[in-house]
Amino acid sequence: MISNLSLNADLHCHSVVSDGTLTPEELAQRAYANGVRLWALTDHDELGGQKRASDAAKALGMKYLGGVEISVTWMGQTIHIVGLGIDPDNTGLVEGLRQTRNGRGNRAKLMAEQLLKAGIPDAYEGALHFAGNHDLISRTHFARFLVEQGICKNTEQVFKNYLVEDKPGYVPHMWAKLEDALAWIKAAGGVAVIAHPGRYSFNAMQMEQLFIRFKELGGLGIEVITGSHSPDQYKAYGKIAQQYGFLASRGSDFHDPNESHIDLGVLPLLPDNLTPIWSVLH
Ligand code: AMP
Ligand code: MN
Ligand code: MN
Ligand code: MN
Repeated sequence: MISNLSLNADLHCHSVVSDGTLTPEELAQRAYANGVRLWALTDHDELGGQKRASDAAKALGMKYLGGVEISVTWMGQTIHIVGLGIDPDNTGLVEGLRQTRNGRGNRAKLMAEQLLKAGIPDAYEGALHFAGNHDLISRTHFARFLVEQGICKNTEQVFKNYLVEDKPGYVPHMWAKLEDALAWIKAAGGVAVIAHPGRYSFNAMQMEQLFIRFKELGGLGIEVITGSHSPDQYKAYGKIAQQYGFLASRGSDFHDPNESHIDLGVLPLLPDNLTPIWSVLH
């Protein structure tokens, strides 16, 4: 049992296997060098980097938890559920993620069609060039292509002007169901965590419904300290964790040394009035 609150745990980041730019081995080294002592690679909808991450962490003497970040559609919006402590060979989880990834290629082609209409040709091929894993072509890869083309100065600007609702390049998509994502994570021996709750644009009542439903489905954790939250949000979601009896998680959501504002392992530690998610993971 690992229950130390002052442990430098980073339980959310991405490699080239999804939309990060570093390999699992480079991430392990970077995390360890930054002081991380409990680490999870949580690629989007994909487990292809798990063995490499786990082997690299072991070689460094860093504890590792199997991880994944599942794209879910709930109440018409995309939310992300992180699974921690999962067995990456679990067939139900592997198959569920395969289905979740399935529509990405078609979605990417539709995104490229819209971008073409907005005067940006060849975006599908351009984005694919940035995708380390062609099964996992994501908006981030389109963002990098648009930056390369000089259309925007950084990926933040791309997301502001393209690829989001009501902008050219946005294609609505149906991801996994919340109950399926939680069932896959549980069947694979893991625990489910609501990723970056501060990023969702639900109203207060919908947020409450999300927390209640997530708990009913056996969800245990919530990200309190994440690269997506402001210090005010650390406090707000710390309170939510206490109110709903959720265990708290901490993760940078690191993708790339230049794009990510927050490096691996450098966020504040969890507040000491919370119980860390790693207290139930061993
Ligand atoms: P997708 O799964 O293809 O919809 O892509 C989602 C990914 O896009 C997220 O995991 C982030 O890495 C990235 N992303 C989404 N919104 C933004 C944003 N506003 N700024 C930068 N990256 C973003
Ligand atoms: Mn991402
Ligand atoms: Mn996410
Ligand atoms: Mn993420």
